[in-house]
Amino acid sequence: MKLSIHGCRGSIATSSHSTQKYGGNTSCFEVISNSQQIILDAGSGFKNVKFLKTRETFLLLSHFHHDHIQGLPFNPQLFDPNNEIIISSDLYDIELVEQTIQKYFSPPYFPIDIISSLSNIKFLPFKTVQENLKNHIDLNSMLLKHPGGSIGYKLTDKNSSLVYLCDNEFEEDQRKNLSSFSKNADLLVWDGMFTQKELVDKKGWGHSSIEQAIDFNTLAKCKKILITHHAPSRSDKELDQIAKDLPDFFTIARDGLEMEV
Ligand SMILES: [Zn+2]
Ligand SMILES: [Zn+2]
Repeated sequence: MKLSIHGCRGSIATSSHSTQKYGGNTSCFEVISNSQQIILDAGSGFKNVKFLKTRETFLLLSHFHHDHIQGLPFNPQLFDPNNEIIISSDLYDIELVEQTIQKYFSPPYFPIDIISSLSNIKFLPFKTVQENLKNHIDLNSMLLKHPGGSIGYKLTDKNSSLVYLCDNEFEEDQRKNLSSFSKNADLLVWDGMFTQKELVDKKGWGHSSIEQAIDFNTLAKCKKILITHHAPSRSDKELDQIAKDLPDFFTIARDGLEMEV
């Protein structure tokens, strides 16, 4: 699988001199396998996803906070009726997923009703997507701790596995199940919005710390860890400093980064 990061900023897109290196787009990760293009979340980074004519395109949404869906109608390729995209999420029934997205991208929140206007946007129940993918990719999900809920996804093909845990506020009672869900993954994408010091004042905000990934991995034993959902105020300088203190199998996500998983 090949992973491309189109957005790794948390909560709100940022644009400033101090965030140019790691980027300011909100969550959007593109996974390309032999036969599928799977997008994890459609934050503002979704505008830069290139539809692959040779593969089916799926969009899996972790949850419906603005920073994970706001990019959807800003990808110009979505206005080409030949670019079909299948949206799904294991957080709600598919009818509610569709209603939620439609409401967000309709007046008075958005100039046009995108879902009614674009027939190439389709919605499929999560189980149907699992079924459709099963000959190529094993797709699994797990409910995470986040206000309103959020879904973690695991993608496994015959060569490798990737686990996406965003957004999640790690708590001790998750350790056993979340570790076994993530066990030995080739890449773990971890919500590292806060540092351990910051987390003290941010209980209940729905996010984990960067340092918690180190502790979590003593049991999960993932081969590589990608830290994402950077706090909007986190500067490149701060992220560079954080990177220096992390084990060498950690990577700080940045917009435009591509990785073989
Ligand atoms: Zn978020
Ligand atoms: Zn969220």
